[in-house]
Amino acid sequence: MNTDSVCADCAEQLAHCHETLVIHTDGDAECFDGTCTESWEEHAIVATCTDLNWICACQKTGDSLPHAA
Ligand SMILES: [Zn+2]
Ligand SMILES: [Zn+2]
Ligand SMILES: [Zn+2]
Repeated sequence: MNTDSVCADCAEQLAHCHETLVIHTDGDAECFDGTCTESWEEHAIVATCTDLNWICACQKTGDSLPHAA
């Protein structure tokens, strides 16, 4: 084990998350760790799903589709 790699928050046992938090265009936030309950402020990386080039359900705005109704 390389203890030098333990992050400061881990050493202090603070609530935080090492995964990326994805913010969707509808405002929903989703962590790569599906069990994560930390707030967005506790994440090392916060990105939008458009930043990550995800083809995401929240991006289906219908702009490119003709209006059916
Ligand atoms: Zn940590
Ligand atoms: Zn999304
Ligand atoms: Zn998280």
